[in-house]
Amino acid sequence: MPTWPARFVFACFKKVERWGDRLTGFAGPYFVAFAVLLFVAGTASFLNVVLPNLPYPWITIPPCLLIIVNLYAHYYYVCTVSPGFASDPPAHTGHTFTWAKKHATRRRPKGVQWSSSLNITPAHVTKCAKCGETKPERTHHCRVCNRCVLKYDHHCPGINQCVGLHNERHFVLFMAYVVTATFWYAVSGFWHCLDALGINDDEWNYLVHPIIFAVTYMISVVMCLAVATMLLWHMWSVSVGETSVESQDHDVYRRMAESRGESFANSYDLGKLKNIQLFFNIGKEGYPWYTLVLPLRVPPYTDGRSWARRPGYVRHAGVRAGEELTDEED
Ligand SMILES: [Zn+2]
Ligand SMILES: [Zn+2]
Repeated sequence: MPTWPARFVFACFKKVERWGDRLTGFAGPYFVAFAVLLFVAGTASFLNVVLPNLPYPWITIPPCLLIIVNLYAHYYYVCTVSPGFASDPPAHTGHTFTWAKKHATRRRPKGVQWSSSLNITPAHVTKCAKCGETKPERTHHCRVCNRCVLKYDHHCPGINQCVGLHNERHFVLFMAYVVTATFWYAVSGFWHCLDALGINDDEWNYLVHPIIFAVTYMISVVMCLAVATMLLWHMWSVSVGETSVESQDHDVYRRMAESRGESFANSYDLGKLKNIQLFFNIGKEGYPWYTLVLPLRVPPYTDGRSWARRPGYVRHAGVRAGEELTDEED
């Protein structure tokens, strides 16, 4: 039984946490506006100063333009495509030009796009103590949105919504394009930055103000390093079949299993290559690999009510029924 000072500290901590959530929700639109402003200033600087001076323009310009289009498209999608809420009816793949086309049209189990070569099992279902919604496995309640999100990863103020089942692919691709674009800007804009700072004696004859160029250049270098670190961490989680929440939960399960002399095994982990293929919904049974380099929408392999598991598994090894962590202690 916690003593009253412990309860008091806990209550204070909860209050601070609630204020933090409210602030995150309030600041979201400003973060998005700031990010758009930064992208536009950076793109204008690149297109005006760096692009016209690139060597072999017929070879170098098309990939640069493709990277820019992908960067904007995936940011637009990650901000506007709903992460998928437990209360929503299952989402359907669209037929407009923004959706990628799949070649194979074999019949598949309901709600799942991959064939039965995978061990696909229906998700365990519980009830959310916070919003009362029925939530399939891998769903978590977001305190900022106050809704239950399918395959919840985290709430991101930079996109003003959650990262979940339906927008996680765009989130990772957006990070990949941020890293590619800022890296290329940092490499190809170096001499121009020295011009902008007046270190070289060359004249500045561009529409973009040298201060804007120098500032976007320096922010690009910092963003490249910061986002590359986030991307690497995220890709590692994807490759082991975990979301950000699950990577924390699984550490707890691992310790719990070890204390009993058992070992924990994540039932969603189908091996690194398969996990990555399922995440991006590419490969033999998914979409073509080139959808990764096109600014298109690709649906997830599942509707979030069934999950691919290791053959022979119906739940994680080392965790008993009822021992799973819930959102209640959040
Ligand atoms: Zn909920
Ligand atoms: Zn949220």
